Amino acid sequence: MSSTAYICLTCGVQQPPSASAPERCPICEDERQYVRQGGQAWTTLDQLAAQGHRVELRELEPGLTGVGAQPAVGIGQRALLVRTPSGNFLWDCFGYIDTASVEAIRAIGGIAGIAFSHPHFYGVMVEWSRAFGGRPMWIPSADRAWVQRDDPAIVAWSGVKEVLPGLTLIQTGGHFEGSAVLHWAAGADGRGALLVGDTITVVPDVRAVSFMRSYPNLIPLPADEIRRIVAAVRPFAFDRIYGGWWDRVTQSDGRGAVERSARRYLKWIGAEADFTLSPHPPGTMRSNARR
Ligand SMILES: [Zn+2]
Ligand SMILES: [Zn+2]
Repeated sequence: MSSTAYICLTCGVQQPPSASAPERCPICEDERQYVRQGGQAWTTLDQLAAQGHRVELRELEPGLTGVGAQPAVGIGQRALLVRTPSGNFLWDCFGYIDTASVEAIRAIGGIAGIAFSHPHFYGVMVEWSRAFGGRPMWIPSADRAWVQRDDPAIVAWSGVKEVLPGLTLIQTGGHFEGSAVLHWAAGADGRGALLVGDTITVVPDVRAVSFMRSYPNLIPLPADEIRRIVAAVRPFAFDRIYGGWWDRVTQSDGRGAVERSARRYLKWIGAEADFTLSPHPPGTMRSNARR
């Protein structure tokens, strides 16, 4: 009997191989996502290929390539491939992979590892890891239970973790307990970039961001969580913020956008905006950003 690793049509997250389609998607049954009207539905890599999906690679700035499915799969997020002198690192994932994109990425050095903003963006991560020889998938211990398709290449982390020189994972919590961002010190011409998925989400007014427990179901976060997220990223220098979708990028003053948006959020949930927009203390910015 042949077995297939089914992909949830709604969230794009792949399940372990099974003889027939699973009944449930735990990611979608959680209150932060939703089971589509009409009921749980599945697809496969073969079906998506037959429907004409492909992986699009788009140069976003020197050292950064956007990687996403075209047409979109699931939530429609795109991943980001950060290219550094020490190797390439894939930030986030989505529900598709094809041989053309794997070959194109191999030609520029492959990938050294993959990490994620949160479980909604796990996609077909095991396929991506294996296509490059079983590269480590960095999963926060707090979100380990959300992994749907297990794999020996999964590596646990928590707190703050430098995965390659100049590339630092920061666990902020919020949307999920293990929600994280990736700080890229060399991004935005050396001013620093924050890759956020929807841990901190860049909103349609891209000069601002927001923070939610659930984006589709509009469940907010409490004040303490907002403060915790801001405090976690505050030691890092960044000017640009890459959200989880092609059109969600805060080009400059990302740090100001986070602070202003957090204060606005706290005000509208009736909480004390008890922090002020302060510049980095002189001399600490670089050393902290590279710890
Ligand atoms: Zn799902
Ligand atoms: Zn999400």
